[in-house]
Amino acid sequence: MLRAVQVCKNFGALQVLRGISVEVPRGTVTCLIGPSGSGKSTFLRCINHLERVDAGRLFVDGELIGYRERGGKLYELSPREAAGQRRDIGMVFQQFNLFPHRTVLANVIEAPIRVKGIGKAAATERGWDLLEQVGLADKAAVYPAQLSGGQQQRVAIARALAMQPKLMLFDEPTSALDPELVGDVLAVMRRLAAGGMTMVVVTHEIGFAREVADQLVFMDRGVVVESGDPRTMLAKPREERTAAFLSRLL
Ligand code: ADP
Ligand code: MG
Repeated sequence: MLRAVQVCKNFGALQVLRGISVEVPRGTVTCLIGPSGSGKSTFLRCINHLERVDAGRLFVDGELIGYRERGGKLYELSPREAAGQRRDIGMVFQQFNLFPHRTVLANVIEAPIRVKGIGKAAATERGWDLLEQVGLADKAAVYPAQLSGGQQQRVAIARALAMQPKLMLFDEPTSALDPELVGDVLAVMRRLAAGGMTMVVVTHEIGFAREVADQLVFMDRGVVVESGDPRTMLAKPREERTAAFLSRLL
């Protein structure tokens, strides 16, 4: 579902991504770990073409992201075309980014109605289903500020799912939460994975990575240092840098 080939990204003189290659098969979960500043968020933003890559290619469901290839040359898509690709890719951030002046249900049905042109009744019906899925149907009429961080994050997940994405990207979805609220969010993500959603999850939740991920990728300073089966990698990292990072996490 996702194929990254030698993705490079610079910010001025800073080489943030230095040839990232990752494959995420359909229906699988990849957890991405690595020290702060290693380029994890930038990589997720490139998958969405929220950042323009300087070299390399990204494919989602076989489609080249951000560019069209013609006569061996790449032409960047128009903002409108890029937005069209982005519609199929759900993203959940550390800071939930809900619309504060809209109710929970309104947050969930806004994009399907405005972006996809789905009728209000159909969007609302699906919105209720999604709120049910994340355990918040009883909160449909309240505003985000009336919810805990964990509940807000579950609304953010429902909102992303409302667009029926092919791929879900999570950027440290539980890092801003009080510890007692982390479990409910991870439980929602776990169910999503069990339901066959293709997911890329940047996280420090090693337990989640061990139990849910099909693949674990360790990034450091813009390169993939090591990747593979999570249990194997966590129990017996091949690389010194992976071992050092993991020992600091535990
Ligand atoms: P991570 O998510 O792994 O902590 P990031 O992808 O956020 O890492 O950042 C990687 C590096 O890129 C950091 O050094 C950060 O300061 C830098 N960076 C990220 N975004 C920008 C930007 N828009 N402009 C300049 N530098 C940036
Ligand atoms: Mg980050």
